[in-house]
Amino acid sequence: MPTISSLCVYCGSSTGVSPVYAAAAERLGAALARRGVRLVYGGGRVGLMGIMADAVLKGGGTVTGIIPGHLQNREVGHDALSELVVVETMHERKARMSEMADAFAVLPGGLGTLDETFEIVTWRQLRLHDKPVVIVDIDGYWGPLQAMVASMVERGFVRKEHAALFTVVRDVDALFDALQAMPPPRFGVDSEHI
Ligand code: AMP
Repeated sequence: MPTISSLCVYCGSSTGVSPVYAAAAERLGAALARRGVRLVYGGGRVGLMGIMADAVLKGGGTVTGIIPGHLQNREVGHDALSELVVVETMHERKARMSEMADAFAVLPGGLGTLDETFEIVTWRQLRLHDKPVVIVDIDGYWGPLQAMVASMVERGFVRKEHAALFTVVRDVDALFDALQAMPPPRFGVDSEHI
C-alpha cells in the first residue's frame, strides 16, 4: 500500500493490568508522529486512548479526536488535540472515523474496542469500504479472539475469505510493515449505506 497519511486506532479506555499495553500505545503514538501519519481516534484522554494521543502530540504529530457530546465528560475529551470533532451519536463517531482514515489498527481494549473492530470488519465484508484492518496482538491479548474466529470458520458461520478481512500482527513495528505490504483499497467508503 502506498504510504498512508492517516490511521484510525481503536483501543481501550482503560490501561489493562500489565504495563506492556501502555508501552505499546506509547510506541504506536511515537511511531505515528515520526512517520507523519495523522492519528484518528475516539478523542478521549483516558486509558490507552489518552496515552497514545499524548505520545503523538509529544512527538510533534497530528491527532484528530472524534467524540460524541454525551461521552465528553465520561471519557474526558482530550483538550490539547490538533482537532477535536464533537458529534451527536456513537454511529456518527464511527462513520466519521471510518471516512477520515486510510487504514485501521486495533490495540488491546474492551467491549467498545471489539464493537468498533467488528463493525469496521463487517463493513468491509459488506463492501462499504476496502481499507486494511490490522489487529496488533500485544502480549497475545487477541489470541482468544483469533481462536474464536477460527472456530466460527470451522463451524461454518464465517467464510474463510471473510476471516482474512483483518490481519493480525505481533507488535507495532510489524503493523507498519503489514500496512506497507497491503494493496491499496479498490474503492472508498460508501457513506450512503453506513
Ligand atoms: P473500551 O474498549 O470499552 O474501553 O472502549 C473504547 C472506546 O470504544 C471508547 O471510546 C468507547 O466510547 C468506545 N465505545 C464503547 N462502546 C461503543 C459502541 N457501542 N460503539 C462505538 N464505540 C464504542
